[in-house]
Amino acid sequence: MKDILIRGIDNKHNFRVFACSTTNLSDEARKLHNTWPTATAALSRVMSVGVIMGGGMLKDESEHLNIEINGGGPIGKILVDARADGTVRGFVSDPEVHYEYNDTKKLAVGIAVGNQGTLKVIKGMSLKNDFVGQVPLVSGEIGDDFAYYFTVSEQTPSAVSVGCLVDVDNSVLAAGGLILQVLPKATDEDIAFMEEAISKLPPVSEMIHNGETPYDIFKRISEDIEVLEEKDIAWKCGCSRERMSNALYTLTNKDRTEMIEETDGCEICCQFCNTAYKFSGAELQAMNDEVLRRFYELNEANKRKLDNE
Ligand SMILES: [Zn+2]
Repeated sequence: MKDILIRGIDNKHNFRVFACSTTNLSDEARKLHNTWPTATAALSRVMSVGVIMGGGMLKDESEHLNIEINGGGPIGKILVDARADGTVRGFVSDPEVHYEYNDTKKLAVGIAVGNQGTLKVIKGMSLKNDFVGQVPLVSGEIGDDFAYYFTVSEQTPSAVSVGCLVDVDNSVLAAGGLILQVLPKATDEDIAFMEEAISKLPPVSEMIHNGETPYDIFKRISEDIEVLEEKDIAWKCGCSRERMSNALYTLTNKDRTEMIEETDGCEICCQFCNTAYKFSGAELQAMNDEVLRRFYELNEANKRKLDNE
């Protein structure tokens, strides 16, 4: 099944709903970061919410958002970057984390993530438009934490269900997410209808593993959902050699000279996709020369300005 996101509305019961299947993009992240099963599930769950918030909820195609979760658990930080075009990327500080709950044998995402910290969402392109919402973590299981985030930080009571099944060979068997949000005009009866519909649903990863599509999940919730949009979603990292080169330019000549003398160059690794970019000593020297040339040019220009005054 390909990864898709659908968005719909139930005007009879006054809620909007998003569902996505993220098996492929979750497995892509697992391969790039060599995550162990519980770390795979944690990252997948956050990416499933990320693609819904990015591809489903952002209005403008140029917008993107960052989700940062740091619960003090062994996994460290989870960072996910999602765009309005439906692409997403992410990483965890420590990918080699694996815990299971003793009783259920389920992946213990809450233990890996921890619940002594925060969930932060940053939306926007330029600094002045950036929206930052932050809430304390509830359980570190991700679904509950985002339900709390939407209710408190965005004043939108929501139900969030995310899941990721990992196979015995550590690959992702099935992953996906579901978010239901109450519309402002919802009545108590509408809310009761929604709560009952959600309580009857099997875990989202189980439905996807059984071959159900996001459309089938909508049908299980309500026959009255009108689908408004379907979008392809995918893993994508926008890093490039040019961007890394720009980052290197922000260092000082002294820093670059040290890298030339000590290792005759440097290697920068993209945190999101683990791609390594190598720069030779000669390339770093060229950057130093360029910075000096610009510095002298500026100096000369200032001198001429002073002479003319
Ligand atoms: Zn990258």
